[in-house]
Amino acid sequence: MALDAEIKSQLNQYLQLLENDIVLKVSTGTDKASEEMLALVNELASLSSKITVEKAELERTPSFSVNRVGEDTGIVFAGVPLGHEFTSLVLALLQVSGRAPKVDQSIIDQIKSIEGEYNFETYVSLTCHNCPEVVQALNIMSVLNPNIKHTMVDGAVFKEEVESKDILAVPAAFVNGKEFGNGRMTLDEILAKLGSGPSAEQFADKEPYDVLVVGGGPAGASAAIYAARKGIRTGIVAERFGGQILDTLSIENFISVKETEGPKLAAALEEHVKQYNIDVMNLQRATRLEKKDLVEIELENGAVLKSKSVIISTGARWRNINVPGEAEFKNKGVAYCPHCDGPLFAGKDVAVIGGGNSGVEAAIDLAGIVNHVTVIEYNDSLKADEVLQNRLHTLPNVTVVTNAQTKEITGTDKVNGLTYVDRESGEEKHIELAGVFVQIGLVPNTEWLEGTLERSRFGEIIVDKRGATTIPGVFAAGDCTDSAYKQIIISMGSGATASLAAFDYLIRN
Ligand SMILES: Cc1cc2nc3c(=O)[nH]c(=O)nc-3n(C[C@H](O)[C@H](O)[C@H](O)COP(=O)(O)OP(=O)(O)OC[C@H]3O[C@@H](n4cnc5c(N)ncnc54)[C@H](O)[C@@H]3O)c2cc1C
Repeated sequence: MALDAEIKSQLNQYLQLLENDIVLKVSTGTDKASEEMLALVNELASLSSKITVEKAELERTPSFSVNRVGEDTGIVFAGVPLGHEFTSLVLALLQVSGRAPKVDQSIIDQIKSIEGEYNFETYVSLTCHNCPEVVQALNIMSVLNPNIKHTMVDGAVFKEEVESKDILAVPAAFVNGKEFGNGRMTLDEILAKLGSGPSAEQFADKEPYDVLVVGGGPAGASAAIYAARKGIRTGIVAERFGGQILDTLSIENFISVKETEGPKLAAALEEHVKQYNIDVMNLQRATRLEKKDLVEIELENGAVLKSKSVIISTGARWRNINVPGEAEFKNKGVAYCPHCDGPLFAGKDVAVIGGGNSGVEAAIDLAGIVNHVTVIEYNDSLKADEVLQNRLHTLPNVTVVTNAQTKEITGTDKVNGLTYVDRESGEEKHIELAGVFVQIGLVPNTEWLEGTLERSRFGEIIVDKRGATTIPGVFAAGDCTDSAYKQIIISMGSGATASLAAFDYLIRN
């Protein structure tokens, strides 16, 4: 396999940045993937005199490890790390050669202090945009701590292994042979999962804020920046900084930016927030709000934060279909991210539940990978934009079933089908499937506010034109509110509005 000219020229530039010699230990066979991997590794060595290649017997073939001279780091790539994992490969080479990873010193110290042996394995697909974050985070941990090892495994090359472990969603991370986590995870999240996140005591003596923002998506980031620019004491607490855009591939309607990717925009939001004196408390979930003299926000870890005003921007999440089988087979054939998990169903039959824009987009995407896609729509017609429907109807391996009420997702240890009721005839029908992608819209993250401020029947926080809720001093913005449309630019605008309104409130009270 010859690398294309563009990748080669990118590699050439990156490899100039290598600081010290590195050794790639390769385990190859006679299969095609081995040939491709060996070609890649040899190409790397031909581009830099700092890289040498040695033959070795590693746990998997084909695979290669990336090491310092005389010292194995524990970083292994099983398969050919191109596609979305190309950056993971480049970063691993640079970091093993001695270039410091771009993370805060406090995180570096935290990683270095982890005790015990951790052997991580992350199963990926090369088209998964959520996978590199996990691979890169675990590689950084391996570079910094000799007790931590990490292998990236390309599921398409190690099909039998993936099937024997019933992996039907990537990234799927395992530690010491046991499941560790599914889906996108940041370095902070991995550290928190390993038990090295902040405890309630670390929040105990926080002074009250002027503005406390709950939620770290586009709305929350915008609200926090607007507040901090007024020079008032601002905090932001977020379960997962970045919000929904972390799961978004291409964004083409964020005005003034022709095209970007969600994770890139999330990183830019974080960088912008960090420009200001904002107390960012990531990976913290709010569980209770109470208005006393000040507004109190209780976190899942038991800490209570106090603030003169609060802006809620907790956004929304994928709506579940809530039928038997959905929860049982989550990540075992029930999936929500077609870009990530589509390749694991290559050559198989899948269904997409939902005929709106996201459902039809998913079906179009999947049709290029899987054997057959059935779109299941509850209503008598699809709701997606006409241009998407037209595209869908040109595809030979897609069937659309309308007036179909999903009754159950069936399976034993993983999904094997779906049962629906034909709403016209009342007849129950069953389709045999390997996977079901649920694409039926979003639900606001507001359950934790039950019994406090007023919400619509859909659970959305009711706000006025300034973002004020029914509790004085509590404002809301973005997808968690009853705003007419849910978009990045709209969330950011409403975050700014709520923040300016909170500032007005502080002046008057
Ligand atoms: C697949 C997909 C594609 C999309 N594509 C586009 C697009 O191309 N263009 C566009 O404009 N929009 C797009 N959107 C919509 C856009 O992502 C949202 O409108 C936007 O992210 C909403 O921002 P938000 O800040 O209101 O909420 P979110 O992005 O949902 O952020 C909510 C934040 O609150 C946090 N949170 C939730 N509950 C709690 C709690 N209890 N305590 C603490 N923190 C909490 C979350 O972790 C997160 O940080 C897309 C959405 C999806 C799912």
